[in-house]
Amino acid sequence: MIYLDNSATTPVDTEVLNAFVKVNQNFWGNPSSLHAFGARAEQLLIQSEKQILSLLNANQHKVLFTSGATESNNLAIRGFCHEYKNRGRHIITTPVEHASVYETFKDLENEGFRVTFIDVKGSDLDIVKKVKEAICEDTILVSCMHVNNEMGRVFPIYELGQLISKYPKIKFHVDAVQSVGKIPVDVELQNIDLLSLSAHKFHGLKGSGALIINQYLKIKPQITGGNQMYGFRSGTINVAGAVALSKALRLVIEPLQENYQIVNHLFDFTIKELSSMTGIVINSKYENQSPYIINFAAAPIKGETLVHALEEYDVYISAKSACSSKTATASKILIALGINEKIALESVRISFSHLTTQAEVEAFIKALKIVVAQLKH
Ligand code: PMP
Repeated sequence: MIYLDNSATTPVDTEVLNAFVKVNQNFWGNPSSLHAFGARAEQLLIQSEKQILSLLNANQHKVLFTSGATESNNLAIRGFCHEYKNRGRHIITTPVEHASVYETFKDLENEGFRVTFIDVKGSDLDIVKKVKEAICEDTILVSCMHVNNEMGRVFPIYELGQLISKYPKIKFHVDAVQSVGKIPVDVELQNIDLLSLSAHKFHGLKGSGALIINQYLKIKPQITGGNQMYGFRSGTINVAGAVALSKALRLVIEPLQENYQIVNHLFDFTIKELSSMTGIVINSKYENQSPYIINFAAAPIKGETLVHALEEYDVYISAKSACSSKTATASKILIALGINEKIALESVRISFSHLTTQAEVEAFIKALKIVVAQLKH
């Protein structure tokens, strides 16, 4: 199998899986229990939290373990806005966020918040300028993803963080699902108050994510009950999931530079090969581009047709993001990033992991050439 859909999900690292099993077998106590067996589980939880905060340079923050980034995004945005609605009712985001951010903003808009969706067709500089222009007395939150999951565009998080730090009332949320473990994430340097991540995007387990939250911030719980997780998210804490998440994070962050070089090489090779083919339009060519994602179109073949044709060669890629790929309309994200509707319908995404090999990419290119020739005739 040639799996080039690592932005949708990645294979679980065996060491991570073993850590999960080991904690479930030996330290399955409830970390909220008063007795020593519970305290041992709590100890593991505290260690995992410390490790995550240290790996992300988030020493002023806490970790809320969640079921994944969808929950983290909902909890961060809805929880923050509900908690601080008396401070202001204006919130800012982009139109190219993952649905778990976008839909939460839409809900808040229906509740009476004013939302500004920043136009992101221009340069990084334009984006920062537009956010600055949108900020007003009433603004309380800016949310911007770090790396776009369909295009691999890297947004100017550091510059936005600098800007937002000048307004103490405004807090900064970053959906870092496609950047954590791939490009540097530094919560303090980037002035991030709330950061969402999902373990299965970096060889961890599905159903396991985190919201990193500034220790001075409050959020209104979206799940109420026993007041676990600093009172922000009730429910017995999944200690094995937390240990596995911190391990998965360490295993991608420690070798981040080496992994980046491997993937960057694959990116350059693929772009060169795609560029030499007629009819290929490469959409992923930003000044700040994650090498983990390439979005392109093999005009005039529809993206969906290409995905299925490649399946016959045991090659797995994606048309639109996995969450919205079952709808046969052009991706509104590509359109909001300036791609025309026809090309958007023909676009596909390949996404790498540091485990992807050169041989796999060569086999993909070979299959792509055959399939494109067949479908064009
Ligand atoms: N944000 C981004 C940018 C994503 O790519 C995804 C997953 N496609 C999510 C959030 C949601 O993550 P999960 O499905 O793990 O909750």
